[in-house]
Amino acid sequence: MSGFELLIRGGLLVDGTGRPGRPADVGIAAGRLTVLAPGEAPRTSAAEVIDARGRVVSPGFIDVHTHSDGVTLLGPSGGGSTLVRASVLQGVTTEICGNCGSSLFPALPERLSAMRAETRITFGGDVGAYADFAGFAAAHARVPRANHLASLVGHGTLRAGVLGPVDRPARPGELRTMCALLDASLAQGAAGLSTGLIYTPGSYAGTDEVVALAAVAARHGKPYVTHLRDEMSRVEEALEEAVEISRRSGAALHVSHHKTAGRYAWGRTERTLPRIAALRAEGMDVTCDVYPYTAGSTALAAMLPPWANDGGLGALTARLGDPAQRDRMRRAIAEGVPGWENTVGNGGWDRISVACAPRHPQAEGWTIADLAASADADPLDVAADLLVAEAGEVTIISHSMVEEDVRRVLAAPYAMIGSDGVPKPGGRPHPRWAGTFPRVLGRYVRELGLLRLEEAVHKMTGMAAARFGLTGRGVIRDGAHADLVVFDPATVADRATFTEPLLPPAGIDAVVAAGRVVVRDGEETGARPGTVLAL
Ligand SMILES: [Zn+2]
Repeated sequence: MSGFELLIRGGLLVDGTGRPGRPADVGIAAGRLTVLAPGEAPRTSAAEVIDARGRVVSPGFIDVHTHSDGVTLLGPSGGGSTLVRASVLQGVTTEICGNCGSSLFPALPERLSAMRAETRITFGGDVGAYADFAGFAAAHARVPRANHLASLVGHGTLRAGVLGPVDRPARPGELRTMCALLDASLAQGAAGLSTGLIYTPGSYAGTDEVVALAAVAARHGKPYVTHLRDEMSRVEEALEEAVEISRRSGAALHVSHHKTAGRYAWGRTERTLPRIAALRAEGMDVTCDVYPYTAGSTALAAMLPPWANDGGLGALTARLGDPAQRDRMRRAIAEGVPGWENTVGNGGWDRISVACAPRHPQAEGWTIADLAASADADPLDVAADLLVAEAGEVTIISHSMVEEDVRRVLAAPYAMIGSDGVPKPGGRPHPRWAGTFPRVLGRYVRELGLLRLEEAVHKMTGMAAARFGLTGRGVIRDGAHADLVVFDPATVADRATFTEPLLPPAGIDAVVAAGRVVVRDGEETGARPGTVLAL
């Protein structure tokens, strides 16, 4: 029983499988776990001992849905460290990025410089654009990080990386090129294919194009992960499109941040969840993830009809400068466009608040309706002026959901947890990047009793690892990777709010990644053992 580098003693082991917690000690050597019966390990048997009495010891949390692709690449001077810390402090030892159709790869060589200019805007710094997963992983390998990172291949990125940001179907040769780039990155270790079918340029693709690409993921045994084409009034049709893509391609289906948002869709999880349960009962491999908030967050430009973004940022800015085009956008929002989600038409500008507008911090925290009222202006004009002044890059928070729907999805036995965090410097981002996991454990387990502790931990660990092929992670057993969290079930809670969005949580005592203590007593230790995981 000697030779452990680290011993976690006296805790309640909640092992990630969903089974009831049990008292046990955990020894760590060379990045791997050994489970020890209480009393089996003498006090002197390890270089470091963490006293976990009264605490839960669980696998490190797996955040299955992030947009953190470039955040460590920003470096400390780019505001990256505060943002990076937020994920680790809530117990996340593996992040999966490349979601919603957007990743930092792949692209044809001749498209890379244009895409690099776009990602510089999206991430608020030069994070690069890469030809393939290997290039992405190599760039990350040069920047130490505390936790691990896996990435999906974003369909929007793949499409822009071959066709450019254009509103037309892919030609057969272009689709073959997209399939080849996807195939190469999946072979190198990317986690699967993601789409964001409300976002341009992904939204320019029809179902057949996505089927062809998902079939490549299926050949690799990797999932099709989708931000549905509509999460509002047409969410059920959008779910059926995803089901069709999964059936025709043979890829497992994972629905991202499942929600039924906007006043016309509130309560619709009473239909979507039974539909998913029925598909599972038929033997279909379908899962989803969810974040524990009634507000979402996205780009202000995504509030505009799809044609407004055709041709990319320069074309959008030109249209926003033209009063006639603004009138067309106003009409599209008022009347709707077939096949377009139309968040503002489903809710209103009074539900859209500005999260990040780097050159207009005074607008942050206010709704577009408030800003319009105080300027005695039309909300569309306020949004358009802000977009032009910020070169297209404004993040918003959309208060679009009701609590009952969030609870139903959280309770679904196939729903895992994803923060959907969009870490970028400055502003008032959505608090989910710093609060998601403690919020589930504090509010939905301890306070509301919606989930058993073991169930919630399973959603955050073992279930997620199984979905995304993270072998040897998400469970505590002999020989598993030493990614762990030690938390206090009596006090664990999120503290991040919409006004103070990066406040660290309470009750997350220690976090271990790759066998190294990266958080001790709720503070970062400075250890950087994290790697990019090739799956
Ligand atoms: Zn999304």
